[in-house]
Amino acid sequence: MNTHKPFNLDAYIDGIQNNPCFICEMIVGRLNGNHIIYQNDLFIAFLNKYPVLYGYVLVAPLEHKEQVTGDFSLDEYLALQRGVYQVAEALRHSVETERVYILSLGSQQGNRHVHWHIAPLPYGVPFKQQQLEALRVENEIMDIPEHESADLARRIRENMRLHGE
Ligand SMILES: [Zn+2]
Repeated sequence: MNTHKPFNLDAYIDGIQNNPCFICEMIVGRLNGNHIIYQNDLFIAFLNKYPVLYGYVLVAPLEHKEQVTGDFSLDEYLALQRGVYQVAEALRHSVETERVYILSLGSQQGNRHVHWHIAPLPYGVPFKQQQLEALRVENEIMDIPEHESADLARRIRENMRLHGE
């Protein structure tokens, strides 16, 4: 059972609005502390640094694009969705989940680099606490030790290899 820790939403917003794109920074290796699961010449998959669910992964194209459909050709979009599928399937083999959520959010006021949230809902969550309610950051996030996150990332990576295609 994981514990939770406080999450400072205002500090987070300040960071994403005033720092360079964190996804681009991570891709070029200028950011530490992200658990990268997988990267190829098209996309990167990494653990959400501020997880509200265990095994919460983000998938993003390597190229800085902003509009979830508008900045891609249909073929480019579908190629990325292949990656999203692979990560989601690997996730299903890595953590206990009764349903995997996939969505693209982001904002032109921060977090502009398009990305997909792949968030596994655990079993047994009451209906009213599911869906968007389960993804609400509010004041706290899960407190997952670094070594456990590293292990989780490794497990998902291994399952991508085993169940990828
Ligand atoms: Zn970017």
